[in-house]
Order: sequence, then structure tokens, then C-alpha cells
Amino acid sequence: MRPWILSLIAVALLVSSPYAQNDSSRTLDIYVVDVEGGNATLFVAPSGESLLIDSGNAGAGAVRDAERIVAAAKAAGLTRIDTLITTHWHGDHYGGMAELAARLPIRTFIDHGPNVQPAPATDDFLQKVYPQLYAKGQHRVAKPGDKLQMAGLNVTIVSSAGETIKTPLAGGGTSNPACANFKPGDGNAEDPMSVGTYVSYGRFRTVHLGDLTKQKEFELLCPNNRIGPVDVFLGLHHGVDSSNSEVIHGLHPRVAIMNNGTRKGAPPDVMKVVLSSPGLEDLWQMHFSQLSGQEYTVPGLFIANLLDEPSTSMPIAPIAAPPPGAGAPPAPVHNGQAYWIKVSAKADGSFTVTNTRNQFSKTYAVR
Ligand SMILES: [Zn+2]
Ligand SMILES: [Zn+2]
Repeated sequence: MRPWILSLIAVALLVSSPYAQNDSSRTLDIYVVDVEGGNATLFVAPSGESLLIDSGNAGAGAVRDAERIVAAAKAAGLTRIDTLITTHWHGDHYGGMAELAARLPIRTFIDHGPNVQPAPATDDFLQKVYPQLYAKGQHRVAKPGDKLQMAGLNVTIVSSAGETIKTPLAGGGTSNPACANFKPGDGNAEDPMSVGTYVSYGRFRTVHLGDLTKQKEFELLCPNNRIGPVDVFLGLHHGVDSSNSEVIHGLHPRVAIMNNGTRKGAPPDVMKVVLSSPGLEDLWQMHFSQLSGQEYTVPGLFIANLLDEPSTSMPIAPIAAPPPGAGAPPAPVHNGQAYWIKVSAKADGSFTVTNTRNQFSKTYAVR
């Protein structure tokens, strides 16, 4: 037989092979990309369909972050982003979008609606740049309860524009004892607007709540946890303390992956809440944080990124976060090689987390 006939047969076999959702080798892959204390979390379904939550930082970080997202997308074999959810209109969440769209086509753009926090640069982006980006694709405003079409996955919006789901997801609705100790926190206008997204694949469950504040955590998880238990809790609002009240314990994550920066998030009070979450097996972090110190940090094995000039030792005590404003010393920079944390989840609920900096990998077996 001629070689091209063999190729045709091979293609025919590939095309005709039935979609096997329960094939145990198929995985949902999640790439948590280092965008320096911003957010960019890429989901690649077993079908090859992709969902990106947020696109990294604006300004000087935009090209760097867009290229880091592209690197993860290429490693996943993607030639486009099918859906981009922008959780909210802060520069560390949408800032790399135009640079990303210039490098990789994006089909559907989802957000919570108009910006509600005074910010001229954001209003400018939303008036002049954003409409051009979605002109060739689709634009949708998310509502709690919306479902996204991704073959083999259940993708459900759990919060948007300050509203949360009112009825529990399948597996949710049980009472959350942590609600009894709830203490409200501070916030700004945009964080509580975040689009929160729940993704399940077979028995594997994960959630990304954008930068939802303590009050919104309470509305979603109290008195009953409407999301239900998750295997992996993604984001945690960079590990900052305007989120991460104890009510997140109701999610019972086996693994948390925090998108903190070199000096953003992971202070002692947040580390204590996360690390005392019942049933938590491991916390993985995007970065060493100066705000943790040796006393509160997780082992370096679980931390994906260092600094351009790595410190030779970790101070025992955490440093206090400098007051915000122009007088604050700059955070340690990391513009060089960046590493993502990869989650590969199987439909049976088991999953493997890999730190691509040191190749440390851990498999969490079916429960
Ligand atoms: Zn943020
Ligand atoms: Zn970094």
C-alpha cells in the first residue's frame, strides 16, 4: 500500500474513534501561570477546548505576562484560546489581554459587565481597546448559574457582578460550620464583582473565585456551602487578607494553589487560615513571598518561582507589608524565566500537581 493511503486510513481511524469521556488516560489540564501576583489560569479540556481565566498584568508587565501565557498554551498544544473569562477590571487581571490577543486568537470574551471602580486607564481600555478585541469573536456578560459549553466538563459561573448562585450546585448545600466565626473584611469596588467559575470533570472538582472578598465568600458559602467540596481551590485572591476568611474551610479543598507575588499575599494570618483548612493536604504557591518568612511559608518544593536575584536564605520572620503608596520600596522583581504549576486531573477524581521549576510532582489518589 502506498504511504499516503496508510495516512488516510490513520486519519480515518482517528476521526472515527468514538469520543471516550471515561478513557482513564484523558486529563483536564490546568496551568497556573506566573504573572507576578496577578492571575492567569488556563484550563485545557480532554477535548482540547481551552478556557483562560484572566490575562496578567498591564503596563510594563503586559508583554512579559502575555508571553508567559502563550508559553503555557503552546506547551498544551493550543493554537487559540476558546474562551477568556476576565474576572474583573483590575490591571493584574485584564492587563495582558491586548498583548495576548496579538499572539493567540481568542474566540469568546466573558466578563461581569461594566467597570465599577474609578480608573481612567481601565475606562479607556473598555471604550477603545476591548471592543476591537472581541469584534472578531463573541462577547458575553456572565450571570451566576450560566454554563459554558466545553465537551466533557461542567463549567458553571458561581458569581458575577456582585451576585452569587442562589441554589447549590450538585454536591453542594451542606451547612458550613466555619460561618459561625465569620468576620467581615475590607474591600474595593471591583473585587466583589469577580466572575467565579466552577469546573468539574467526572469526579474532579475545582473552583476559581477571582478576587472575591470575604463578604462574597460568606454569601457563597454560608450558612450552607452552595459550591460543595472541591479537590483543588485555585487563586485565593493572591493570598491577600481582604479575602480568605475561615468560611473557605467549607470548600474542603485537598489542594490550594495560591497566585501570590513576591511581596503580595501569603501573610501570616492568611497562611494560618489556609493551612488550617480541614482536609487540606498541600498548599502550592506561585512564589516565595517575603510576607511569609520561614515561619509561615510552605516548603520550597511547593513553590514555583524565585526572584531574578534569588535570596540565599529565607528570613525566619515575615516582613510586614509596606504601606501602599509611592513611598513603598519596590517588591523584588521576577522578569526572567517563569514556571507554571500544572494540574492534571482524571475523571475518577485523582489528580497530579507538578511544579515545573523543580519537577516536583505529587499525585492525589482517588478518595
Ligand atoms: Zn487581583
Ligand atoms: Zn514570578
